[in-house]
Amino acid sequence: MIRVPDIIIAIDGYSSTGKSTFAKAIANAMDFLYLDSGALYRAVTLHALENGIIDAEGTIDETALRAALPGLEVHFGRDEDGLCKTYIGGRCVEKEIRSLAVSSHVSPVSAFAFVRNFVDDRLHAFGAAGRVVMDGRDIGTTVFPEAEVKIFLTADEQVRAQRRFDEMVAKGESPKFEDVLENLRQRDWTDAHRDVSPLRRADDAYILDNTEMSIPDELVWVRGLIQGKFGILE
Ligand code: C5P
Repeated sequence: MIRVPDIIIAIDGYSSTGKSTFAKAIANAMDFLYLDSGALYRAVTLHALENGIIDAEGTIDETALRAALPGLEVHFGRDEDGLCKTYIGGRCVEKEIRSLAVSSHVSPVSAFAFVRNFVDDRLHAFGAAGRVVMDGRDIGTTVFPEAEVKIFLTADEQVRAQRRFDEMVAKGESPKFEDVLENLRQRDWTDAHRDVSPLRRADDAYILDNTEMSIPDELVWVRGLIQGKFGILE
């Protein structure tokens, strides 16, 4: 294993490009802390859905959402297998935050500036010590613009939808492929067109198209990138 300095690695990109899988693999290989910013937006959305802040038509009660955030205790913890999971208070919500219902509402929720500030504050606190790999949509542009390594992931849209579909089926859900694809397109559009902190590649981010890459391939690529950037020899 190469000795990697105490840096921040920011991984951004479109939905289902495999950001979290890649980030987790980096965290394991380099002994970094992994932070999933999307999980925090999803937890906020789950809380809003469960508390009637989003109604059946999908309308968000902005005032109620704003009022709910100060009391919302969202954090990352480890379950009995030692895996990192998302919690609201003492309740593990890892499965619930990945549902299609949450996926369908998370982009408009995350477009509010006050929601972004809520999440950014937590990410800054978690990431303060460095040696962190974080994935999201605006980590390299807004949350940690000073991150030493920035990566922007892309992949073919059909391949991305298939990955998300397979992930949901593996969890026992039975989504329609067309619904998964449509959700992915809508989220990408909303994320890239919102006023506050839109999804965008940072000018100094390296682009990685992983359509035809395996995780070991991606690790070889990032290792080479870090070695070259920091002059590290094997
Ligand atoms: O990464 P994931 O698909 O779990 O993210 C869920 C949603 O959270 C995204 O579609 C986006 O709307 C929002 N998000 C964001 N900024 C981030 C991470 C996620 O707006 N840094």
